Amino acid sequence: MKQTSQIIANAAKEGRKHLYETEAKTICMEYNIPVTKFELAKNEDEAVKIAEEIGFPVVLKIVSPDIIHKSDVGGVMLNLKDAKEVKTAYKRMMENVKKHKKDAKIIGVIVQEMAPPSTEVIVGAIKDPQFGPTLMFGLGGVFVEILKDVTFRIAPITKDEAREMLMEIKAYPLLKGYRNLPPADMEAITKILLNTSKLVMEHTEIKELDLNPIMVYEKGAKTVDARIILE
Ligand code: ADP
Ligand code: MG
Repeated sequence: MKQTSQIIANAAKEGRKHLYETEAKTICMEYNIPVTKFELAKNEDEAVKIAEEIGFPVVLKIVSPDIIHKSDVGGVMLNLKDAKEVKTAYKRMMENVKKHKKDAKIIGVIVQEMAPPSTEVIVGAIKDPQFGPTLMFGLGGVFVEILKDVTFRIAPITKDEAREMLMEIKAYPLLKGYRNLPPADMEAITKILLNTSKLVMEHTEIKELDLNPIMVYEKGAKTVDARIILE
């Protein structure tokens, strides 16, 4: 896995433990974990050009080593429908970030496709001091944050174990479809769990991984935010 090793080595060289979203999503792509289409823009004009290539609506997010939780500082702008909205959002984002930290180092802005809302799930990985790489799965939002409805497995996992993880959470009936929620593509989530397992087994430099959220559709899934922390 050439690109992944390069990205990790480069971050280490720069003394960074947190990978940028662009880097984390590039690693995901190498492991066949589906992510939103994205590209890094270095200025406003580039952001517009990339948005036009990707197709509207788009999302802009700040890429900076000084900002971990992007939405906390006004570093996420959703549902931008045309070039004018992209320009306005770009300017506003730079102001927001400077207000938060005057001398924040800014790498650029990640421009990405806006994933339509759907069932949100979370796939995570941590390195347990005793058991090594361990995978986590749960439904997004309140299910994880308040109800702690999550399940864990020590990596590597088999396909059967990945399927068990889906069925184990209390919110499983929601995955099967409920009222206005369409049934989720279980096969797509299973694949993401297996590929994440492969990634953390092959790269033990990864201390924490967080695909949060992943939008799951009736057909397919898309990782909207990816965070990777190195040891
Ligand atoms: P943070 O660093 O604050 O976690 P995120 O990238 O997770 O930033 O963005 C915050 C929220 O914005 C996400 O939880 C998700 O609901 C929404 N979001 C982010 N990117 C997209 C996208 N490409 N498509 C749709 N929704 C998105
Ligand atoms: Mg997030």
